[in-house]
Amino acid sequence: MQTWEQFTADPNARIGVLGIAYDENSSYQRGPAGAPPLIRAAFHSDSANMWSENGTDLGEDGIFVDAGDVAPTEDGDTLAEIASAVTRLLHHNLLPLVLGGDHAITPPIVSAISARFPRLSILHFDAHPDLYDAYDGNRRSHASPFARIMEAGLVERLVQIGVRTMNGHQREQADKFGVEVVEMKDWHDDLTFDFDMPVYVSFDMDCLDPAFAPGVSHWEPGGLTTRQVLSVIQSLRAPIVGADIVEFNPRVEAPITAMTAAKIFKEIAARMLESSLP
Ligand code: MN
Ligand code: MN
Repeated sequence: MQTWEQFTADPNARIGVLGIAYDENSSYQRGPAGAPPLIRAAFHSDSANMWSENGTDLGEDGIFVDAGDVAPTEDGDTLAEIASAVTRLLHHNLLPLVLGGDHAITPPIVSAISARFPRLSILHFDAHPDLYDAYDGNRRSHASPFARIMEAGLVERLVQIGVRTMNGHQREQADKFGVEVVEMKDWHDDLTFDFDMPVYVSFDMDCLDPAFAPGVSHWEPGGLTTRQVLSVIQSLRAPIVGADIVEFNPRVEAPITAMTAAKIFKEIAARMLESSLP
């Protein structure tokens, strides 16, 4: 991966990698702030090559620029800084691929991307709908990002897959916002996800069954397999104009979940490179 300084000298990269070392809006346990360097290390690990399954060599020069990490400062507004950092990537024609952090980081990312791509949908992988109006009194909670996104009218469609924790309040919220929820109880492998506009992929690692990604804050059995999520990503035909991979908690488990996050990163990046942008 090029550094920002190398990119400024030779601006040909297409994907901007941004880490977000921030988990202050997690409700149950902290830890995802430590994830970005571990996902980068797994991606660069000598244990695997850097090719995606569709035959793209992600180790070639000129694909990625690494914009470093956003981290909280004493009196900074971290969510506002995330939006600024994503806007800067887009200004340089880089598609943002963001490494969280907890899920509270997604609204400012989507806010920045929707300013550039006014017709936008979200494909959201998660065990949880994350639609609480507020959680423990916190409207910025990692349990609330998609309530904020839908209230602000940032996207035309929100499609959720992997969900297996729906409750009464969140079902009301999903109905109110017109969210298309594919619950795990209704999952079958020949579902397809078609969009006639650019897509933002928001990937919460806990969409996976804890057997496949144990390093998350909320273990929720009955989830997707790694192969099922890869198949969904690989079969998407709409342009992917941005993505996040969030909620990897290395305090719970690191080695397996880091490699799984890096695998998701590779397959999303390969699809982003195939996307012809509007
Ligand atoms: Mn989530
Ligand atoms: Mn979740």
